[in-house]
Amino acid sequence: MLYFSQLLEITSGKILSATAISTPIEHLLIDSRRLTAPATSLFFAINGERHDGHQFVKDLYAKGVRQFIIEENNSYISTITDLKDASVAIVPNSVRALQQIAASHRNQFAIPIIGITGSNGKTIVKEWLATLLSKRYQVVKSPRSYNSQVGVPLSVWQINASHTLGIFEAGISQPDEMIYLEKTIQPTIGIFTNIGTAHDEGFISRQQKIAEKAKLFEHCDAVVYCEEHTEIHKYLSAHLPNHIKRWTWKRIDTSLTSMGKGEGENLMHCITLMQHLGISQPEIETQLQLIHPVSMRLELKQGIRGCYLIDDTYNNDLAGLQIALDFLSNQQQRAKKTVVLSDVLESGEPEKQLYTRIAELLHSKNIDRLIGIGEILSRNADCFDIPTLLFPTTEDFLKKASTLFSNELILIKGARTFRFERIIQKLQQKTHGTVLEINLDAIVHNLNYFRSKLKPHTKLMAMVKAFAYGSGSAEVASLLQFHRVDYLAVAYADEGVILRENGITLPIMVMNPSEETFQQIIDYQLEPEIYSPRILQEFLNFLENNDQSAKIHLKVETGMHRLGFEEEHIPQLIDKLQRNHHRIQVAAIFSHLAASDDPAEREYTLQQITQLDKISSLLIEALGYEPIRHIVNSAGIAHYPEGQFDMVRLGIGLYGVGANEAEQEHLKTVGTLKTTISQIKHEKPGDTVGYGRRGKVTRDSTTATIAIGYADGFDRRFSVGTGSVWINGQLAPVIGSVCMDMSMVDITDIEAQEGDEVIIFGEQLPVQQLAKWAGTIPYELMTGISERVKRVFYTE
Ligand SMILES: *Cc1c(COP(=O)(O)O)cnc(C)c1O
Repeated sequence: MLYFSQLLEITSGKILSATAISTPIEHLLIDSRRLTAPATSLFFAINGERHDGHQFVKDLYAKGVRQFIIEENNSYISTITDLKDASVAIVPNSVRALQQIAASHRNQFAIPIIGITGSNGKTIVKEWLATLLSKRYQVVKSPRSYNSQVGVPLSVWQINASHTLGIFEAGISQPDEMIYLEKTIQPTIGIFTNIGTAHDEGFISRQQKIAEKAKLFEHCDAVVYCEEHTEIHKYLSAHLPNHIKRWTWKRIDTSLTSMGKGEGENLMHCITLMQHLGISQPEIETQLQLIHPVSMRLELKQGIRGCYLIDDTYNNDLAGLQIALDFLSNQQQRAKKTVVLSDVLESGEPEKQLYTRIAELLHSKNIDRLIGIGEILSRNADCFDIPTLLFPTTEDFLKKASTLFSNELILIKGARTFRFERIIQKLQQKTHGTVLEINLDAIVHNLNYFRSKLKPHTKLMAMVKAFAYGSGSAEVASLLQFHRVDYLAVAYADEGVILRENGITLPIMVMNPSEETFQQIIDYQLEPEIYSPRILQEFLNFLENNDQSAKIHLKVETGMHRLGFEEEHIPQLIDKLQRNHHRIQVAAIFSHLAASDDPAEREYTLQQITQLDKISSLLIEALGYEPIRHIVNSAGIAHYPEGQFDMVRLGIGLYGVGANEAEQEHLKTVGTLKTTISQIKHEKPGDTVGYGRRGKVTRDSTTATIAIGYADGFDRRFSVGTGSVWINGQLAPVIGSVCMDMSMVDITDIEAQEGDEVIIFGEQLPVQQLAKWAGTIPYELMTGISERVKRVFYTE
């Protein structure tokens, strides 16, 4: 039990005010959007790089939170000290306080704790170890990949008296971070998975990165690592104090694991650790049967009957459920929310208590309906206060499944033994083998990269036109709304309508309005771009006739020569706006750069920026208020800080394509377009492949027919060797012409089988490379992926 009064001692902070009544603290809350139990939560206001948590204290107070930790220097202090009956502690740094509280919690449990660090494999090693050790121990572990400065304390906070072993991962991106994670976890056994290039930019050398990570082991009794990682081996041999045992291994033991290199390595770490814990060889081998090479992804997919599915069928523990429910409640696309849940296995908690907690969680997340599968959940049905349907087994549910849903969001989460992947198969829209996978974490990463380039008060408009550059507009917009961008922009009114129908409430600019769509624009609270005297007059007439008023975005010409008011129109524009100020409010004045990605056109771009400044100043003076001004797109954000004005418009960079190589290094790939091999054939010299016999065979050849064609957006310009695809780690050139729904590629030198995966573009084969082959730009290829290609959204 932790009480507010103890915080003084733990955090070395000051108590600003404390109420007489003190509720024990059960939840440590760092993100106001994840509130579930106000009365028993302690909120940490963190002044982060992008958001200041102090801003949300009042909001949380209104929702019933009464216990807060705030930082000494924050600009909201006066609003916080006014709060009645609240307990507020003030500390130098809220993240450190969070870590100190978790560390003091950790200290109450004298159980073995495994701490895992390294560049790759931390999460898989942790998950596998948890499974492998589940026979002997009641394991507590980090949920998903919660391994950051705040993720680690939240993970450690989960330890309770029922646990007999803990497994936590620790990830760092800069020097000096690990000492805090070490103090929080206090591991007794360490694992160093490997060392790679991730986060290299934060360190001066590989050596420094290894040294920093190794600080996790300072108080361990033993450390597991692979001697073949020579840099790690060298460092730990020289620097690890002698009393710490080194449990090392050299070669992947193929009799124990038939897995490939990466996974084999992860498994060897697990096996080595088990051997040293004294677990017998036969027991290790039995436990290894339980291991599956699984993805940790949480996937959002289109389901049948207008549903969306959230696929989290990997495991089912309470912390994972909470994260999946957060993900579910961030989706705005459907109002109705259902959870399909199996028994929660191996929690170590008494049943009643566990299912009561789950019921509270479902309740706090406003879930409309629970479908429970399994006997344990069924016999605890009385814990739940929302409509509940029960099935003893997955098979029983599958018989009814397709009739139970329509137009809702469904979270599907079950323990492995329930094999919920069968439910996904049944409820998912069929994908015809070709999918575009969208990495939602990468979008957030890219968004944050561009945010870090903005001046403190510059707003951000995200461009989600053209189906969010092919990525799926409703889903991407929902994510951007959660991450609090300021504005969205679409090309046409109907794109905006779709967003509104999918629960998007952010302001939305429509760049190509027309008379026929004015009614929609008003009905759906969209904001039109007004770019000429003609469209202004048409819109004014419409407003007049319908006795309406609206916000508009004025586009001015500065050098693109596409849409925009010319300088000579300005006096007349001012006159109209002044006379119609009761009908029209100017939300923004903006323009568009013609060559922001071209350093050779710097003069021209600066001239455009100056021109916007000049015209907008005239308008602002005449209007008597200050609309938002903006001009730069993705490529301009980093290079023209003088052009940031009040807002920037972020498009292609959000989707992972940088303006140049230096910027590209900071961005993550968002989309991966994949298909499969439908058939493999063998040809002799003289044979031809495909339409018009354009694919000439000159040697004994093997070709693969792949399930993608120009109707899917696989450009016909890739025909006859111009483009290639990626199969099992190698490039396979297109042979013959790309067909409407299929293409043929040469795999003579590649080992492949029917059904194998084919990457069209993605991390291994960047879309920029395809654009070069086709003589076009990534924009065209990305927006050309047809809507019949299903989009799958995932988060790691
Ligand atoms: C598409 C578009 C953008 C975004 O451009 P990117 O190069 O994708 O960042 C910005 N402004 C306008 C007016 C656009 O049409």
